[in-house]
Amino acid sequence: MPLLGCIADDFTGATDLANNLVRGGMRVMLTMGVPPMRLTVDVDAVVVSLKSRTVPVTDAVRDTLNAADWLRSQGARQVYFKYCSTFDSTPDGNIGQVTEALMDALGTDFTIATPAFPDNQRTVFKGHLFVGDVLLHESSMRDHPLTPMTDPNLVRVLQAQCSRKVGLIDYRVVAEGEGAIRARIAQLRAEGVGIAIVDAISNADLARMAPAFHDIPLVTAGSGLASGLTANFGISPSEKASSLPAAGGFQAVVSGSCSLATQRQTLAFAKTGRPAVGVDPLRLAAGEDVVGDVLAWAEPLLKDGPVLVYSTAEAGAVKAVQAKLGVEQGGALIEHAMAAIARGLVERGVRQLVVAGGETSGACVQELGVMQMQIGTQIDPGVPWCHAYCDGAPDGMHIALKSGNFGGEEFFTKAFALVDA
Ligand code: ADP
Repeated sequence: MPLLGCIADDFTGATDLANNLVRGGMRVMLTMGVPPMRLTVDVDAVVVSLKSRTVPVTDAVRDTLNAADWLRSQGARQVYFKYCSTFDSTPDGNIGQVTEALMDALGTDFTIATPAFPDNQRTVFKGHLFVGDVLLHESSMRDHPLTPMTDPNLVRVLQAQCSRKVGLIDYRVVAEGEGAIRARIAQLRAEGVGIAIVDAISNADLARMAPAFHDIPLVTAGSGLASGLTANFGISPSEKASSLPAAGGFQAVVSGSCSLATQRQTLAFAKTGRPAVGVDPLRLAAGEDVVGDVLAWAEPLLKDGPVLVYSTAEAGAVKAVQAKLGVEQGGALIEHAMAAIARGLVERGVRQLVVAGGETSGACVQELGVMQMQIGTQIDPGVPWCHAYCDGAPDGMHIALKSGNFGGEEFFTKAFALVDA
């Protein structure tokens, strides 16, 4: 039975949290939305990945409460609501409204909120969120298209989204440790505060505060709090947390990302002399059977080692395609093709699949019908190998989902060198 039940408001956030929990020693399962079945593998934590960050607040609340119900039905003792470390939200939601709905559902009158993630340069001091060396509203988050952050004072930001009173546990209290934090929580509760922003300017702060949250049914945070929280369940970092079933089968990379890092990774892979084939969006748009051609090309090569299928192109080429096909229609057409290729590769025996691109990964996972993934070894920061079962691979397969700008230049070859065979 899982000890900790997590709900993340977007997919990369879910992966990030899962990765931190694994580093803290927990065995972790990530699910795409709320699964229609019980957990199939014994783990310490489950992270339900939702798409609730910027959807209308009523949808976010409904999906989150469904996830919380499911997590508790699996045995989770504490719920962790994970949002972005830049606290992405507006007065209309969804962090505050979702938090209060969870408090009501879990029957608790108090919870905490800290997006701090010092490893990623997100720190909270006197309730103010810093991104690197600048306050939140001076960072690029100021111009975010969906959730522009114009106020760095999180007490004020969260209060605008909540009917409960929002308070602060500041860095001096955090520095004094568990006893002082518990005393401050009691004081805030007596003052009628329902949610407290908690300062953290270092990993040590996060580790120091975690024991004080041992008994509260709900915590809300970025992914930073995760590694400290695992100790509350008597778990400490261990290699075993990331061990997955042995990998087998053929190896392939499907890359639909055009980010600079992926462009370099694609070139580096091609330089090794391994087979690589490009997908031409204009041939796709003309209705040619590009997917069939690619799969016919790959099939005889797979037994000799990894192959790469890419639509990756540099900015000029991407713009030209977008001008002809439209940004959204062109993107969706390519994503569908890459997903069909991923599925075809798995049907041909690929059991170690690297997918590059956030949207591309979403399309591939959906096409493969992957609903749960167990989190394994990190290949590069933020990108772990995962193990999943799906129709095309009922015996299980390894899959790594790399968002565009992640990973070093040799990522595509490094990934296969690191998988546990
Ligand atoms: P990233 O994580 O790098 O942003 P995504 O997969 O999220 O990668 O997004 C890349 C988008 O670009 C997808 O919609 C994909 O279909 C599209 N795309 C991929 N290759 C091309 C190309 N050659 N021309 C135009 N668009 C492309």
